[in-house]
Amino acid sequence: MNHVSCPHCGGLTPYRIRPDGLFGCDECGNLVDPRDISLDGNEVWGVDAECALVVFADPVTAFERLHEYLADFLDDPADSYGEAASLNAFEWAAADLIDAIHAGIQLPEMEN
Ligand SMILES: [Zn+2]
Repeated sequence: MNHVSCPHCGGLTPYRIRPDGLFGCDECGNLVDPRDISLDGNEVWGVDAECALVVFADPVTAFERLHEYLADFLDDPADSYGEAASLNAFEWAAADLIDAIHAGIQLPEMEN
């Protein structure tokens, strides 16, 4: 999860949601319309507990990665490099899901 900071006044001040639905910089007053937020294909945006604009991995793809890396982990030989790499990738996917939960994003349905 990454805060989106204002590039117009040094890049340190995160944009915060305003009552009018725009995001604003408290330092210089620059405004961003949510429709103008550009994301790469695997990201979504949200608002954290401090009302700041945050970008994080799409929980749908993070969930898919979680399943994929768990399957890899179970297939890898015990104590192998592949097993360690799969576990590490699983932890990153889990961290991305936790970020989404903290931002209030609804997680995908679990398959039984
Ligand atoms: Zn600014």
